[in-house]
Order: sequence, then C-alpha cells, then structure tokens
Amino acid sequence: MSPIVNGAENTLLYSEEELFPFKDGVTAAQVFDNPQNCYGYSYNDFILLPGHIYFKHEQVSLTTNLTKNITLNAPLVSSPMDTVTESEMAIAMALQGGIGVIHCNNSVKEQKKEVERVKRFENGFITDPKTLAPFHTVADAYDLKKKYGFMGIPITEDGRMGSRLLGIVTKRDVEFVKDWTTPLSEVMTSELVTAPQGCTLDQANETLKVSKKGKLPIVDRDGCLVGLVSRTDLTKNRDFPEASKDVKNKKLLCAAAIGTRQEDRERLEALIEVGVDCIVLDSSQGDSIFQLEMLRYIKAKHPGLEVICGNVATQNQAYHLIQAGADAIRVGMGCGSICTTQEVMACGRPQATAVYKVSQVCKQYRVPCIADGGVSSIGHIIKGLCCGASTVMLGSMLAGTEEAPGEYFYKDGIRLKRYRGMGSAEAMKKGSALRYFSEDDRVKVAQGVSGAVIDKGSIKRYVPYLLSGVRHGFQDMGVLSIEQLHEYIDQGKLRMQLRTPAAQLEGNVHSLFTYEKSNV
Ligand code: GDP
Ligand code: GDP
Ligand code: 5GP
Repeated sequence: MSPIVNGAENTLLYSEEELFPFKDGVTAAQVFDNPQNCYGYSYNDFILLPGHIYFKHEQVSLTTNLTKNITLNAPLVSSPMDTVTESEMAIAMALQGGIGVIHCNNSVKEQKKEVERVKRFENGFITDPKTLAPFHTVADAYDLKKKYGFMGIPITEDGRMGSRLLGIVTKRDVEFVKDWTTPLSEVMTSELVTAPQGCTLDQANETLKVSKKGKLPIVDRDGCLVGLVSRTDLTKNRDFPEASKDVKNKKLLCAAAIGTRQEDRERLEALIEVGVDCIVLDSSQGDSIFQLEMLRYIKAKHPGLEVICGNVATQNQAYHLIQAGADAIRVGMGCGSICTTQEVMACGRPQATAVYKVSQVCKQYRVPCIADGGVSSIGHIIKGLCCGASTVMLGSMLAGTEEAPGEYFYKDGIRLKRYRGMGSAEAMKKGSALRYFSEDDRVKVAQGVSGAVIDKGSIKRYVPYLLSGVRHGFQDMGVLSIEQLHEYIDQGKLRMQLRTPAAQLEGNVHSLFTYEKSNV
C-alpha cells in the first residue's frame, strides 16, 4: 500500500525518499530481534517516533482481520472472562465494529443463550421468527417477551413458520388487556402490510418505511409466513454503521470460547446451532496435544468455522497451531492485569516481545494475531498493533463498564465492579478450573487474582473514545491504516526508541503536586 494519498484535504507533498531521508531511532527488528539482546520488552519499554501528518485523524482506517476470514472495522476484542463478556458486552462491542467472545465459565445452556441473544439482536430478514397460533393467549405472548425481549409476533394458523399468516400481535395489542387468558385471535391485528417472498432486503426496507409499521411479514404465494423484517433493525443499522455483521443475514458477529475436553464437543455443537461465527479455544497454554486435537476435530467436522487458537508466547507454539489450521493466534502468557502465571508457573514472556515474535511467524502464513492482555491505555492498544497484532483483546479495560456482567458497588465512595482472573480461586470455584488444571487435580494452584475496577460508564461512549484515541496515535505516526502500520514497521519506516526507567518517568505525568486524570 502506498502512503501517497491525494485530495483536497490530504495531499502528501513528499516523495517516498523525502518522507524518510534519515534513519533516526531504531527499527522494531533491532529492538525485538537482536540476537545479542537477552531481554524481552513490555509495552512501556518502548515508544514510537512520530511521522509526517498529511491527513485528518478521522481518515485513519482501523479495518482489520480478526481471523483469516472475519474482517472488523475496529481492532478491539472483549475477552472471554465471566466479569467481561456476556451478551450485553458482545452486542455493544459488535455494534462499535469490534467483537466479543462469550466466556464459557457457565453451563452449555447458559452460554448458548448468551450467543443466541447476540445473534438475534439485529437482522435483515428474520428467517426463523418466533410465532404463535390464534388459540395462544396474551400470557404466551408475554412469555416470549420475557424470554427473548421482543413482542412483534406473527400469528399463523398452526402457530408455526410456513403456515398461513392470520395476523400479528405487538405490545400495543396487549398492553391494556387485563385478562391474560384472552386468546390472541381476539387482540391480533389482521389488516397487514406484507411483502412477497423473493423481494430484496432493500425493497422490504422501503415498504417498511412507507407503511410506517413496526414489522413487515414476508409471505409466499399462498399467504404462508416465510420471514419477517423489523423496523428497529433499520434504526440500528443507521445508528451503528460500523457494526460487525454477517454480510448475508445482517446479524451481529459473535465469538465464543470453549475448552479442549471431550465434553466441549457438545458445547461446540450447541454454539453452532445458534449461529456462532468464531470459536476461541481458551487455554492458558495453547500449544498442547489437547488443543491440536480439538482444532483438527473442528476443522474436519465444521470446515467453514473460524477457530482462534492460543494462548501462546513463542514462535514454536504458534507454528504448531498454524500448521494444524488455526485461523488466528492469541498471544499473551502471564501479562494480564489479574494474572499470576509468570509468578507461579515461571512461564510466560513480556508482552511486546511475545506479540512481535509470534506475529512474525503468523505473517508468513497470513494468519492474524491477537495481542491479549496487559493493555491498560490507548497507547498500549497502538503498541500492540505496532508489534504486529491485527486486533487487541481487552479484559480490565472493559471490565467496569455498564455492559460488563456484575453489579456496581461502592468502596470508600468510589463506584466499582468486580473483575477477576479466570484462573483465580474464585472463578475456578465456579467452574473455570478446567482451563488451568485437569479435573482430578485435588490441589489447585490459582493463576490469577480477583479484584475490582472503577466504573467506566457505557461502552457506547467508551469504545468510540478509545478508537478516536487510536486514530490520533496513528495520525501522529503518519500512518493511515493498520495495514500500512504493519508495512511501515516491517520496512523500518516507522521507528522507535527503547526507554530507560528515567525516560519512562519523564513520559508519564511528573513534577506536579497534585493532578487529575480524566477520560474525556
Ligand atoms: P450496501 O449498502 O449495498 O453495501 O449493503 P448493505 O449490506 O450495507 O445494505 C443492503 C441493504 O440492507 C440496505 O438497504 C441496508 O439499509 C439494509 N440493511 C443493512 N443492515 C440491515 C439490518 O441490520 N437490518 C435491515 N432490515 N436492513 C439492513
Ligand atoms: P418488538 O416490537 O417487541 O418485536 O421489538 P423490537 O422491534 O423493538 O425489536 C425486535 C428486535 O429483535 C429486532 O432487532 C429483531 O431483528 C430482533 N429479533 C430477533 N428475532 C426476532 C423474532 O423472532 N421476532 C421479532 N419480532 N424480533 C426478532
Ligand atoms: P487484561 O486485559 O486484564 O490485562 O488481561 C486479560 C487477559 O488475561 C485475558 O484475555 C486472558 O487471556 C488473561 N487471563 C484472564 N484470567 C486470567 C488468569 O486468571 N490467569 C492468567 N494467567 N491469565 C488470565
């Protein structure tokens, strides 16, 4: 990709030679790939050198690959942790262009329900709408509302899809009905605007706009129900143009974590049933015979399903998983904010070096790499991408938002939410022990802690703030996209500097008696 961009607002006035005449600072390869250097580095150990700005920060594209075949408009992934990602988080992340990975520290039924909530949140044609029959009651309609959150229910002759459409029941039809045993035939609206089977989504949307109705049932030539289009989806699509969606059915993308045991095969099938787009094999050390077997099993049985493997910290680990067919590699061992793996297991790697080294191998095989853990600022997100990652996975940064599971509580007047490692004693008690130990281990050694993080408000404001910060960082470096960032790093055009402890102190707020830090 060439950096030359023309146009009224972003004209690059320099030739390639004029843009990079000097080799100031050092390259990423000199920092991370120097055989004389025994050290591994974390994000705080280095700083990027600024480049030439010739575009507005809004013009920076953050489009990237989560896996070989899944593209996102934002490089952010929420971690599969039980204090970070359930359906509310996954919906919010996908609406903002990222993606959420639903955790598996729950029953198969619970996890399946969370994925289904995400997949039902937004639609083009709803091909399997919930339906009822005329003899069903108002109570049955409220039951559906309680279970799924919506109440636009087509009424068909036998209560199923594919049978003759007789009417529709919406909230307005039932909200003032006191007797919940009233049959729906008495309250349903039977004068319907419908669209014929075979119409395009564009045509259906136009009909919906003109009809001013909330729902548009799609019927075949015999008047039998074959689908439904909802007006709220038009507004969702308008309000979140960057959302991560399946191009065909317009459903939000959703990933889910599973383990690598025999019983996880059953979990896998349940998640596939509700349309999961991507599976994350969630192991703290991913280069194991168990993960390789699970990966091969999935690829043989469901070749179209994207599988993210990990976690790893070395090139050899990544190589084994890539050879077995991994669609993305998740990098990070012992760098998470809640993690004690390096202390307890004496295994892991400083995260910036781990991401750089692993992504070098991933690049050879065109497999995207996810920088997972140890990210506590916008600068760390940028540095993870600079080290070669295509996306960055966040735990602590997203915990404490409204969309994270759990209730807020106050301590010393500060509003907090719980955040815990999946290898903490507390989380293992709930079930995640299998990620860290075998079921017959009688003595369990925790690899994480539980704690709390401060209230960060809603993802709806927080993620746009993070993305805007990332775009500003790219602008300072003079790069227009993640693809160009990787290219500049590899070609030594974007350069860096290691930081001494004194330089790190200088780079943080200092010499003040007091100061306040605010996100906005
Ligand atoms: P493009 O705009 O042609 O590139 O394709 P899109 O897939 O974005 O949109 C095709 C049509 O589907 C347009 O009329 C969109 O407004 C509409 N559309 C996109 N997302 C949704 C959605 O979630 N629900 C509904 N009902 N329509 C959508
Ligand atoms: P309703 O008027 O109570 O149906 O609710 P809304 O129209 O506000 O929201 C319905 C949302 O749920 C839309 O985004 C639909 O795409 C989604 N949805 C998913 N599955 C279904 C379904 O089976 N029936 C209906 N009515 N909506 C569904
Ligand atoms: P954070 O963003 O909070 O720095 O790190 C989140 C990441 O830490 C997760 O995505 C996951 O890979 C990792 N992680 C979560 N729980 C634990 C744990 O208990 N122990 C360890 N070693 N890693 C954890």
